[in-house]
Amino acid sequence: MSLPVLTAPVAVEEDPLDLMDEIDSLKKEKDATILAHFYVDGEIQDIADFTGDSLKLARDATRVTTSTIVFAGVHFMGESAKIMNPKKRVLIPDMLAGCSLADSCPPEQLAAFQEQLRAQGRDFQTVAYINTSAAVKSLCDWIVTSGNAREIIDRVPKDKEILFVPDQHLGRYLVEITGRKMILWPGSCMVHEIFSIQDLIRAKKKNPGCIVIAHPECPQNILEITDVIGGTEKMRQYVMALKEPTTFLVATEAAMIHPLTKAAPQHTYIPVPGIMTSSGETCACNRCPHMARNTLQKVRDCLRDGRPEIEWKDYFQQARAVLDKSLL
Ligand code: SF4
Repeated sequence: MSLPVLTAPVAVEEDPLDLMDEIDSLKKEKDATILAHFYVDGEIQDIADFTGDSLKLARDATRVTTSTIVFAGVHFMGESAKIMNPKKRVLIPDMLAGCSLADSCPPEQLAAFQEQLRAQGRDFQTVAYINTSAAVKSLCDWIVTSGNAREIIDRVPKDKEILFVPDQHLGRYLVEITGRKMILWPGSCMVHEIFSIQDLIRAKKKNPGCIVIAHPECPQNILEITDVIGGTEKMRQYVMALKEPTTFLVATEAAMIHPLTKAAPQHTYIPVPGIMTSSGETCACNRCPHMARNTLQKVRDCLRDGRPEIEWKDYFQQARAVLDKSLL
């Protein structure tokens, strides 16, 4: 007797336009607002009610009037939205959308290091980049984004040392622009760390008159040959202010090309290549694998099913006090 041949189920590709229509009706039916980070796919940004960088979205989240927020981004962003809006239901399309930078600073290790510094008699305040878990935020004195870091560092009393977590590259850049000494946590972002300096130099030569814009999460060698350093919102403002068509080499997550093109279509944007760690080859599509977990399908599913949901945890209360004084 011959056995039946089993084949693996094939995932059905759904039409993006149908998905967008479905999301639109579900938003009304479920009383929901969609927030999308500049690093998620352009089509998700296009159906979102708010788009932006971490600072803008954290502030936008407090202005939402619907009972549900869907946060298309990564886990720590969903946590921040919940912390700042405890009464709202906060859904994220994929619970596994994490962040290499946030993961580089586990709360137990931070608490142990702070304890060690205190035991040495060091008088310090802890400043955390927003790309940290809520548990880490609850151990800190201040939260910064790339958009408000300078202003917050200025608020740390001059007689205190600063422990900056978790991004060593952003920390080094902040030391340079603020003149404050900092103890730097050795974390980094897997996307911004792998830009290829050789390819960037080559691209500069091939595009005379171009402007390099880079995120401060990039390492020093990239920032040294960058014309404009800033977070994603600063990049957007910069290209909008320049009327003359210009070529930009963009060193940040490649999905950022979408909002830049929308905001200032007169320019040409070339993503700076990253080096793929698996093969050592360069690719012009430096995408964050965590952000890429967000898809139209998952946005539809989480709206329809009401999950995955960010649940309130006890330590969110302490994290809230720090976020409120830093971001609002
Ligand atoms: S781009 Fe980097 S910092 Fe941003 S979510 Fe991805 S891993 Fe985290």
